[in-house]
Amino acid sequence: MKKFFNRVAAKFRAQVDKWLPSNDQCEPRGYVLMDAEQTNKSTAFTREERDEKGLRGLLPHKISTQDEQRDRALENLRRKTSPIEKYIDLSNLQDRNERLFYYTALSNIEEVMPLIYTPTVGEACEKFSHIFRKPRGMYITPDDKGKVREMLDNWPHDDVRVIVITDGERILGLGDLGANGMGIPIGKLALYTVCGGIDPAQCMPVMFDIGTNNEKLRNDPLYLGYPQERVRGKAYDALMQEFVEAVQEKFPKAVIQFEDFKTENAFRLLNQYRDKVTCFNDDIQGTAAVALAGVLASGRITGQDFKDQRIMFLGAGSAATGIADLMVKELQEKGLSEEEARKRISLVDSKGLVTKGRAKIEDNKKPFAQDHAPASLLEAINDLKPTVLIGATGVANTFTKEVVEAMSAINDRPVIFALSNPTSHAECTAQQAYEWSKGKAIFASGSPFDAVEYNGQTFKAGQGNNAYIFPGLGLGVVLSESEKVTDNMFLAAAKALAAQVTDEDLKTGTLYPPLSKIRDVSAKIATAVIVQAGDDNVFGVPQPPNCEEYVKKHMYNPSYDAGTPAPESKPAAKPQPKPAPGTAP
Ligand code: NAD
Repeated sequence: MKKFFNRVAAKFRAQVDKWLPSNDQCEPRGYVLMDAEQTNKSTAFTREERDEKGLRGLLPHKISTQDEQRDRALENLRRKTSPIEKYIDLSNLQDRNERLFYYTALSNIEEVMPLIYTPTVGEACEKFSHIFRKPRGMYITPDDKGKVREMLDNWPHDDVRVIVITDGERILGLGDLGANGMGIPIGKLALYTVCGGIDPAQCMPVMFDIGTNNEKLRNDPLYLGYPQERVRGKAYDALMQEFVEAVQEKFPKAVIQFEDFKTENAFRLLNQYRDKVTCFNDDIQGTAAVALAGVLASGRITGQDFKDQRIMFLGAGSAATGIADLMVKELQEKGLSEEEARKRISLVDSKGLVTKGRAKIEDNKKPFAQDHAPASLLEAINDLKPTVLIGATGVANTFTKEVVEAMSAINDRPVIFALSNPTSHAECTAQQAYEWSKGKAIFASGSPFDAVEYNGQTFKAGQGNNAYIFPGLGLGVVLSESEKVTDNMFLAAAKALAAQVTDEDLKTGTLYPPLSKIRDVSAKIATAVIVQAGDDNVFGVPQPPNCEEYVKKHMYNPSYDAGTPAPESKPAAKPQPKPAPGTAP
């Protein structure tokens, strides 16, 4: 009986929804208009708008341009002295005036990106429940079982195309941060808009808050999450399934990005859903594409073809084995058999080299187990002579002086990536990599490092930031309305990214294009992904004739006047000198 009434009620609600204007169609006025982040222009409302929209008298006299507003926002931002204060300042701007937030970020990507994403987002997640101002995104807890589809109706936008979901169990290299991990989906989706030009109204951050095993958090009276131990097993899977099914019904064109799940769940969820719905895991697949692009670009310095590389990983989790899997695919494309390709790739985890003789080997590591006696990292380097060493452990100082020296003794130009985030968890610093290799290392990191002076030369480490891949990839998937996200799309994205690295970039030692060019890079990646969607026959909308132009035309423009082009990104401003004591900032 109850079921029958629920069904009738749902039908009635659907009918009423059709008659009512959707949330996206309501026209706010006055303070309501200025409180709505999507429509607020604050001091930039024109005289006519002020009269029409009930704003006369509610704003100071001057009509600001968006450039003036951006300069004011930057002045306020630069007055803050710590990254976390800057993060809060930018979040407040995003909550007040979305277009100005994106306008400011887009015109100053190199300055703003490390503040809205890594490395600052790590600290922001740790302090999430303490710095919380305004809710953003959706929270799903075990108490919501059976209600998830209904909850999606509460979301204020009707055409969601990109969802980033985490369960907060492995936030960057910081471990289980529970619901505090919501900073990650929020930050990643901001980058989807800044770097990939996805409309923020089409983005939905989701916290799959099934508890936390971080006791310190659970005992924190200000902790905002579900204050129980993590739900595991069938109950976890059933709630996730309910969410995925609800998304298919409510937002059928959305791509789901799984983010910062612990390795076992990360692989399990990806394998469960990758052939059923449009989804991917950025830690596994996005990282893979960005690392592969870096190694491909490094070949232009070392003169080494990718098929001749020997690659060793320290760490054997989502990131490392994701990269390893994609590299196998690329080696196979280069003509190697799968077996030959796998022999080129070795994993070293906390127990040493992953070998066939181990008593227990996890599924994701098994294909890379070497026919070799147990060995430490140093012994493995000396025996297997890798050309490329990639760290994805989440543990600082694991690339010691001896490790970097061993890589430099074997290779003229050793390729060394310390991918762990945030900066404090990097396997070694840029300074150490250049100093210990005597300037020979081709180095990239996960979080940004300042340029390093060594022996009269300036080295600029590339940041193997996933933001080079997922926004462009997501844009390509969204515009092609692909039913699946294929491995070939990640290969196509990696190659498109590597092709954007100029000889000038390589001369300074950096393996990635400057972030200030990220929109162009993302447009090229999206184009490659759309073409690949056609080749893989997974597209929902056929490839348009002038694909790159089409992609650029569909990128979100945060200018108030849609006729004005989106702002170009300036290189990062030089650090401001500190004001003398006693002077006003
Ligand atoms: P994970 O927990 O799945 O894997 C970590 C792996 O490191 C595990 O295999 C673990 O056994 C191993 N490990 C831990 N301590 C070790 C030690 N002392 N020596 C050797 N191995 C050790 O985590 P993940 O998702 O693979 O991420 C790992 C790190 O990579 C994180 O810091 C994350 O922020 C970073 N990451 C960077 C990028 C990027 O820069 N683009 C992308 C994704 C992840």
